[in-house]
Amino acid sequence: MSSPAPARNGAPAIAIRGLRKEFGSVVAVDEVDLDIANGEFFSMLGPSGSGKTTVLRMVAGFESPTAGTIELGGVDVTKDAPFSRDVNTVFQDYALFPHMTVAQNVEYGLRVKRVPRAERRTRAQEALERVQLGEYGARRPGQLSGGQRQRVALARALVNRPRVLLLDEPLGALDLKLRREMQVELKQLQRDLGITFLFVTHDQEEALTMSDRIAVFNQGRIEQVASPRDLYELPATPFVAGFVGTSNVLDGDAAIKLLGEPGTFSVRPEKIQLHLDASHVPTQHAVTAAGVVREVVYLGSATQSIVDLDHGGSLIVLRQNQQSSEEGDVAGRGAHVHLSWRREHTVPVTAG
Ligand code: ATP
Repeated sequence: MSSPAPARNGAPAIAIRGLRKEFGSVVAVDEVDLDIANGEFFSMLGPSGSGKTTVLRMVAGFESPTAGTIELGGVDVTKDAPFSRDVNTVFQDYALFPHMTVAQNVEYGLRVKRVPRAERRTRAQEALERVQLGEYGARRPGQLSGGQRQRVALARALVNRPRVLLLDEPLGALDLKLRREMQVELKQLQRDLGITFLFVTHDQEEALTMSDRIAVFNQGRIEQVASPRDLYELPATPFVAGFVGTSNVLDGDAAIKLLGEPGTFSVRPEKIQLHLDASHVPTQHAVTAAGVVREVVYLGSATQSIVDLDHGGSLIVLRQNQQSSEEGDVAGRGAHVHLSWRREHTVPVTAG
């Protein structure tokens, strides 16, 4: 399958400016600005109702913005109909036609565009092979597994060779194991084809695994746009710190007592070490706190402890279960413990 044509003048694949959408009195999307590069795997992550699907639907052309513009490859498409935009959408429910064969489903878009039959066949077969379903063209969707149906939906979008693929929770209907497998496949496919992916998910792990960059949405606004690593290591707001992974937020008295300065800070549970004996605190750990273990939760590969601090508040500590002899293993409920971490692992977050 050939790669899509490059965008004009090196313009971003998608440029969104001042995008707003009101449904009656509900502001679903509020002043969103985004530039998504060609070939980028870009995710919109956020809780239910935060506006990510509405942004995707406006890029697809299924909704029209209340204000703002959308450019694809440097061309303003804000007022264009969905079929005249160089994008294709893969929906969570796949939207396959049950009475058609897999091959007919994949060919459908080409038939609408009046592509000659022989070319349709070849391109549909190519697309099916791309998603490892080369042998399944004669089946009907009802005769496929959930993961295979998902791949057909993908093939049906890829057959049009769009420059941009819009994916709305495409793995949402799959069980966890299959979902993880498909995440790897989808990422690989995107890399091989060089197509720009705009991907909607509320699953932070999924977004972290697959994306080049992620926009975190909250109440119709973007809180932060960053690479998975930066989003995790340097969350810009308490919302991002709490939504992407588990985080401890220190503010008020706790910040002043533990860190010696006022403000709001985040520290990830795996950065904190737990010791039974204060003399075991490593010298490079500038931040220390004493407390009592309130809860210990065994998570298989790791153990999570919740520690109530002597001077108020609590912290979550996560420890990999690598060695059975670590001190943390004997720090059961009620144990008096010492927590410590490196100062640079306390990240300032501005109140969002
Ligand atoms: P989810 O993950 O649940 O799909 P989301 O982040 O994609 O959530 P949206 O579907 O974009 O969120 O919805 C944003 C807000 O807009 C919500 O408050 C929702 O109820 C509202 N909304 C979305 N579509 C419509 C519509 N057609 N009519 C009225 N309100 C709508």
